[in-house]
Amino acid sequence: MENYDIILLNIYLLTIFSLVVRAKINTATYRVLKLVVFLMFGVFIYELFSNVPSIDNRVMMIVRIIPAFVVFLVLVHSEFKSMMDFIGIKSGLKASNTIEEASKTELLHAIDYLSRHKIGAIITFERSTSLQDYIENAFQIEAPLSSELLGSIFMPKTPLHDGAIIIKDNIIKCAGAYFPPSESSKIPKYLGSRHRAGIGISEITDSLTVIVSEESGQVSVAINGYLDQDLSHESLVLYLEKYLQQN
Ligand code: ATP
Ligand code: MG
Repeated sequence: MENYDIILLNIYLLTIFSLVVRAKINTATYRVLKLVVFLMFGVFIYELFSNVPSIDNRVMMIVRIIPAFVVFLVLVHSEFKSMMDFIGIKSGLKASNTIEEASKTELLHAIDYLSRHKIGAIITFERSTSLQDYIENAFQIEAPLSSELLGSIFMPKTPLHDGAIIIKDNIIKCAGAYFPPSESSKIPKYLGSRHRAGIGISEITDSLTVIVSEESGQVSVAINGYLDQDLSHESLVLYLEKYLQQN
């Protein structure tokens, strides 16, 4: 086997491995794994252009690299999208799960109710990174987003109130989802496992999570590894519009 065949094979294996285990390993390990795939991809491109002599061979190698490039994109597409957003270019990777006006009204109504009654809740919106692994490991629901359903799912002492709800395309896909909690040392000690779970899922996916605190009734949003706490109704609306309504 040529050098580039070995590297190509390694890229495939590492990508598959990281996709399979991403829900089970901590965020730091997942990032290191992504970095390794990224570096190997760089080495592969270098090998390809420095060692393949004829133009015909290069064309053949480029054809062979297409699937590797696709799996590579699957792994890093959320970083790629953030990078494009950062430099102001629309990446063309359309964020799915745009929230409809009716669903937004239902959600805001439910959040207001949960907050006033100090009922703890964690509601995660899938965007372009799939949350399928988490959905499959939770209680399947598949019902349109409604404030009544959100309110009753999080009602204390009911079977489904523990864990997160995941919403995809205005549908409540599941309840009782468990996210890998963030291990960041920057999170204040007074924040417990619900908030850490919201931050955790926002570190490894581009999801947006709304959290209602059972202790204070405060509403927070976790996105891109950050937690914005004690949001007003207006600030929450701005988050929903920015991340779930603009493509
Ligand atoms: P609160 O301000 O509401 O008290 P908190 O951040 O202090 O929130 P806890 O008091 O520890 O967090 O909240 C525990 C609840 O958070 C659990 O009952 C469960 O519903 C939810 N939760 C805890 N860990 C996770 C997790 N990893 N994934 C999803 N939900 C979780
Ligand atoms: Mg608590």
